[in-house]
Amino acid sequence: MTETCIFCKIIKKDLPAIIVFENEEFIVFHDKNPISELHLLLVTKKHIESLQSISINDSEWLGRMIALIPEIIIQNGCKNGFRVISNAGTNSGQEIPHLHFHIIGGNSLHKKIL
Ligand code: 5GP
Ligand code: ZN
Repeated sequence: MTETCIFCKIIKKDLPAIIVFENEEFIVFHDKNPISELHLLLVTKKHIESLQSISINDSEWLGRMIALIPEIIIQNGCKNGFRVISNAGTNSGQEIPHLHFHIIGGNSLHKKIL
């Protein structure tokens, strides 16, 4: 937890968010500025800066984090495909330095960046 981190504040319920899933390790809530019909953020409860900060020792919880995605997708009615993005560091435009995956879908995501 860092005092100024917006996502840490959401985790502590000091800031409101539309939370759709939560367990001991992770939380999922709606992005406040959605770029698609469905735009969720899958966030670690532990304050980790980005994918740049992890190592092979993090494989187990990272696997658990990624494995949550199919169920989240089903629960949020996103049947026809989705995309997962994680920005890391300045050149990516990462706005919140707390590890998260954007899960976007709900409508056709024509603009492929890769
Ligand atoms: P990043 O650029 O770090 O990958 O993405 C951060 C995301 O967090 C952005 O899509 C932005 O809209 C979202 N965001 C920023 N502040 C808040 C907030 O206070 N609440 C919620 N729900 N989303 C936020
Ligand atoms: Zn944080």
